Formats: sequence, C-alpha cells, structure tokens
Amino acid sequence: MPLAKLRPMRLNGHGAYPGKSGGSGGGMGKGQGRVDADEGADARPVSVARRPWLRSLPWRMQVQSRHRLQSRLGRTLPSAPGRVARRPWRTLRRVLSVALLGAALAGCHAVTTDGPHHPALLPPGLRSAGLALHHLNIASGLYVRRAEAGDGLVMSRQEALAGLTTRGDSLTWLGHSTVLLRLGGVTILTDPVFPVGFSLESPLPHRHALAPIGLDDLPPIDVVLLSHGDYDHLHSPTLKALATRFPKAPIVLPDGLESHGEKAGFTTVEHPPVGETVVAGGARITAFPAVHGTRRNLLAKLDGEAYVWDIRTAGRAALFVGDSAHGPIFGEIGRRGGPYDLALVPIGAFEPSPLVADMHSTPEDAALILAELRATLGIGIHWGTFALSPEPLRDPADRFLAASDGNRRARVLRIGETLRLEPRGN
Ligand SMILES: [Zn+2]
Ligand SMILES: [Zn+2]
Repeated sequence: MPLAKLRPMRLNGHGAYPGKSGGSGGGMGKGQGRVDADEGADARPVSVARRPWLRSLPWRMQVQSRHRLQSRLGRTLPSAPGRVARRPWRTLRRVLSVALLGAALAGCHAVTTDGPHHPALLPPGLRSAGLALHHLNIASGLYVRRAEAGDGLVMSRQEALAGLTTRGDSLTWLGHSTVLLRLGGVTILTDPVFPVGFSLESPLPHRHALAPIGLDDLPPIDVVLLSHGDYDHLHSPTLKALATRFPKAPIVLPDGLESHGEKAGFTTVEHPPVGETVVAGGARITAFPAVHGTRRNLLAKLDGEAYVWDIRTAGRAALFVGDSAHGPIFGEIGRRGGPYDLALVPIGAFEPSPLVADMHSTPEDAALILAELRATLGIGIHWGTFALSPEPLRDPADRFLAASDGNRRARVLRIGETLRLEPRGN
C-alpha cells in the first residue's frame, strides 16, 4: 500500500483539491501529486530540511535529537518541527478511522444477513469471509481512483458557483448522495457530507473526489433530509455545521436516528415511521422503506432504518433513494406516487455483487427503478465520490446510461453540476 494512499487529503481554501488548475478549484490534474499546504519544501522546518537523517527517526527521538542539537549549538533552532510534531496525531487518526470504518461497514453488512438469502449472494460462510476482505480494502483505501476522478468528473469551482445562481427548479449534485434540491420554492439538502471536521463517531471513507464547493457556499437550506445512518450518508460534523449555519432548518431522518439530529443541534427533528408524512420547510415528505440495512458500529443495535423519501412541493414530485438495492417496494411506490418529476437513484458501489447484492442496486437495477417509478428524469447518485467498491470509477454512470439507452430520462452529472428542471408541462 503506497503511503500516499493512506494519507488524509487536505483542502485548499476553496474546499477543493490544490492542483495544476490553481485557484479554479475543481480541475484535478490526472495523477498529479497533491501536496499538503504545510508540506511544500519551503515550509519544511529548517532543522529537518538541513538534516534529512532527522526524518528517519521516530518522532520522540527526533524531538530529543532536536533538543540535543539546540543545546550543542547553544541556540534555539528556527520554527517548531510542525510537520513532524503533527504526525502521531495524523497516524492515530488514520488508524482509528480505519478500525472504526471497518467495524462499521462489517456491522452494516451483518444487518442484511438476517433477511432471506439473495440469490446473487455467496453462501453465508463464504460471504462473511469475502466481506471481511472487502471491508479491509475499503478501510485501507485500496479502491481509491483519484486519477480517474481527476479526468473531468469534478466541475471547476467557478462553474459550480455559477450553477448555484440558476433560477427556477434545479438540482445540484455535490457528490455521492449529497444533492441540493430546489423544488417549488423549497431548498432541500440530502445526505450532506462535507469535509468540515473529523469525528471518531463519523469517520469518512476514502474519497475519489471532493465537491468543488463547500458548505459555506450553500444557499439558505429549508430542510436537511437523511436517507439512513451509514457513514457515507450521516456525517455528524457536517450536521453540526449545518445546524449552526441554518438554525431554523428542520432535519428529517429515519426513525431511530433522531438522537443524531438532536445532538447536532437541530431544533426541529422529524423522524416519521414508514408510511407517515411530515411537513417540513414547506415540503410534504413521506417515508418508504429502502432495501438496505444500517448499523454504525458492531456494538450498536440496528441503528435506525434506511428510508426512501417521497418529496412533494408546490407543483413537484420527487423521490430520493439515497442507498438501496432493488426490490418490489419500487413498483409499489411507482403505483402509489408516480409519475415523478425527478428521482435520485443510487447506481454505484454494486461490486463485488456476490457480497453486496442485497444492499446496493446495480446501474441496470437503477434504470429499472426509474421505469417502475415512471420518473420523467432520473439522476444517478451514490457513485464517483467515496471509494467503497472495486468497480471502475465510471462504470456506474456508463452502465446506467446504457441501460436507459434511447430514454432521455436517465442522466448523470459532474460533481458540482447544476441541472435546471424543465418547467412543468413541457
Ligand atoms: Zn448505506
Ligand atoms: Zn452508501
């Protein structure tokens, strides 16, 4: 495992990768080396830069050597060994993240083994062994495809900001299942995950790519909507930041997850059971069950449910499927609530299918879901952002579009892209 893959990624001031495209933010050069702002050659502590052998010593020995050197020279060496001194915390943080994430993902999948055996899955014993390896790969970053993500997947910051000024109904894909929906005068943010802080309670999986805009660039939010509690969907630091920035916005999440909304500081926390409707921020939002399990750690009981949300605003009907396998529920939702103006459907993390077929839909399943919902427009989400599976980065998008061949209702966006919805009746 190259060390570069294990290092946490850092942001520049715009919440985007530092790269050859400079201040434009989102443009990520293919395979370029990304250097932390404090790791450039100029920023190296002088003591370390002049004495490279200091680097090869463990941190505590480096500090002792530095002290000995200072007393021998009779003066204080310039600048504290900033980079060196931060390493133990970074390493500890990474180790904890890997351990927690591995445990959480194992827990997540363990939930699904209670149900009827999916015909595409391996027998339970083999599957458990396979999942253990799969989780290790996720936690260690083996599935990361940053070079592929750099090939035009992410919009530039300027383009993304320009998209936010779009008038009328629109949606902006901010990566994975994070979508800014502006429908009928209501602004809804789904499954928000931004790199706004680290929490042992919410370690994030490794990323292929970051959104070119950050939480501070968002317009006023009327509702925060969560599909379920997995780490790639419920990120406590992001929820805290949102509750601080938009103190009047309610959060709507599945039953059993309400404590996460309360702890984050939301004053209004809606957690309807399946089949019930809440009115929040001017939208009517109804809970349907997703074909998915969630458990945030191995020691916890089943930690909330996973939902599909039906969203109604003045003149618009949308369905948000944050993370789900295909199942008969989508035919039922289509019969009850279709046709939909817009459906957000998960298309990624479907490999290795013999291990995860009862958790995640394939792109072909997602195209089938669109047909069952009778959706006018379907956007593929839950791909291109977090390194959760071994499939090539663009396979979800390519296969989703191919499965909907000749049918213009299926679309995929670049991260940060805004799509204006046709006025109703067109
Ligand atoms: Zn999930
Ligand atoms: Zn997910």
